[in-house]
Amino acid sequence: MLYFDYAASTPPYPDVITTVSEVMNRHYANASSIHGYGENAEKLLNKSREVCAKTLGVKASEVIFTSGATESNNMAIKGVALRYHSRGKHMITTKTEHASVYESFRFLERMGYDITYLPVDSKGRVRVEDVLHAVRKDTILVSLMHVNNETGAIHPVIEIGRELKKQHPKVIFHVDGVQAFGKIKVELAHSGIDLYSISAHKIRGPKGAGLLYVRSGLELAPLLTGGSQEGGVRAGTENIPLIAGMTKAVRLAEENRSELYARLIPLRDRLMEEILRYPEWELNSSPEGAPHIVHFSYPGMKAEVILHTLEQLGVVVSTQSACSSKYTEPSRVLLAMGKSEEAARSGIRISLGDVHTEEHIDQLIHALREMKKRLVNFEGWNR
Ligand code: PLP
Repeated sequence: MLYFDYAASTPPYPDVITTVSEVMNRHYANASSIHGYGENAEKLLNKSREVCAKTLGVKASEVIFTSGATESNNMAIKGVALRYHSRGKHMITTKTEHASVYESFRFLERMGYDITYLPVDSKGRVRVEDVLHAVRKDTILVSLMHVNNETGAIHPVIEIGRELKKQHPKVIFHVDGVQAFGKIKVELAHSGIDLYSISAHKIRGPKGAGLLYVRSGLELAPLLTGGSQEGGVRAGTENIPLIAGMTKAVRLAEENRSELYARLIPLRDRLMEEILRYPEWELNSSPEGAPHIVHFSYPGMKAEVILHTLEQLGVVVSTQSACSSKYTEPSRVLLAMGKSEEAARSGIRISLGDVHTEEHIDQLIHALREMKKRLVNFEGWNR
């Protein structure tokens, strides 16, 4: 079986598994305890924070450890909303954000906040001028994803960050970097980005670990109250084994980033070429997008039928994003890109990782061809 669902989750590096297990065995003490065991756990926590910060080019005090990017995104959006509401209650995002961002805004809308959901172009990208035009006197936050988890579309976050800081320096800028980190270069310290979310399990780290970069000077209202861990922003005993495992993955992801990018682009492009051979398929990713995601629709055919046919043929892919794949709703992302409802119900995401080679792509292309042959005569069309 070949696994092509790296945008949903990745196998942890063996080194990460070893680290998590060793730290569980050796550093079980609470990092807040003042005895020697606690101090050693705290030392490891501090060291992990320093390594993550150095890798991201930021200060250690600017790294908050979380349970994953869902929490990082909630913390950023709701934390800003609750802390800065006296300045205004208007926030800006797009129609194609990950559920953890989108649903955080829907929640705030119900609490009386005013949210602008910007449109995207046919390639899934928000326009810089649309973001700038949407800013009002009462705008407190702009939140965008760097790379879209379904299509791989890249929002121009660097340009937006630069212009926002020039034209509207008080507006806080959050970026969901989950699908970008380890693939696309980002220099946080000079980007105009104030908050950046990362998830460990998308970069071969453990599940249940993530971080949020919080530019110094910025304050967030805590969502979890209790102890004074994580600078008082996130109460709760730190999960040091997972933090140590994530730190390994963060370092490796950044070290291997440019080599991985160069290796994935030709693999991705071969897949795109193959998809373009079928006039009835629609390619929803573009060469300007991320190196690891290829998304296409087979309008009229249910995505689950395509997925299970491919699984029978030995390859594992995904429908929509993993978080939404159990819903039968058409993809919100594809609809926002102007695709038909049929296309939005028949989307397949293929996502690549560092383990993939030319031979794997040969096998995947063979399976796609075989799937097409089988489904030509299939009776279970959507129509
Ligand atoms: N943001 C994006 C763009 C994602 O792809 C994901 C995971 O699918 C998340 C946020 C949520 O990350 P986590 O699984 O760490 O909560």
